[in-house]
Amino acid sequence: MVGFAEAQSCRRRVLLGYFGERLGEDCGNCDICLNPPERYDATVDAQKALSCVYRTGQRFGIGHVVDVLRGARSERIRELGHARLSTYGIGSGRSAEEWTGLIRQLIHHGYLVQDVARYSVLTLIEAARPLLRGEEHLELARPRLRVKVQQKKGRAKLGDFDYDEVLFERLRAVRRRLADAEGVPPFAIFADAALAEMAAVMPTSEAALLAVSGVGRHKLRRFGSEFLDEIVSFVGR
Ligand SMILES: [Zn+2]
Repeated sequence: MVGFAEAQSCRRRVLLGYFGERLGEDCGNCDICLNPPERYDATVDAQKALSCVYRTGQRFGIGHVVDVLRGARSERIRELGHARLSTYGIGSGRSAEEWTGLIRQLIHHGYLVQDVARYSVLTLIEAARPLLRGEEHLELARPRLRVKVQQKKGRAKLGDFDYDEVLFERLRAVRRRLADAEGVPPFAIFADAALAEMAAVMPTSEAALLAVSGVGRHKLRRFGSEFLDEIVSFVGR
């Protein structure tokens, strides 16, 4: 239950959301209710995300929906023809992390369900309809952004990425573990530049990870899931 720990909505609302139930009012007693995050009118963002779930046929999980929203140029998106959707790239102004957080809030508020029995596919709930039609407004918690750290001087080999240092260190730890297990030097797994790009782009699907330079099909198959797991847990925490 990654979504529960990082929730920015009333805890009780989140819990009921997992069972497809909607709470009329926040409970007023949990830590979130007692110390609420800043809120903003998220109607347009929510409409973008919900219509993207609809346009992709309600057959995909958060990672792919976010990729389509952000206009990712991946093979998977090309194969599926999703670059031709009207919702392709309409969310390019926000990070993958922000969209992931927004979609989690839509789940908590009972506009979407995540079918854990079926690859965590997102499907719309009837309650999403008035919001999509613009008959309803929605306020959500403003995403709490993690500070992105500028790359340090003298580390030009890490490329042009404004990456997240905490995630970068976590990815390095994954690499160290894999390198030890394989008996190879760390750079034989992935170069620092590839890890920095991952820590900047935060890919959460195989397709998105494959778009990172230095990640080929072979390495994706061998090591991809280890790195994706780390990124997903970082993004969703
Ligand atoms: Zn509450």
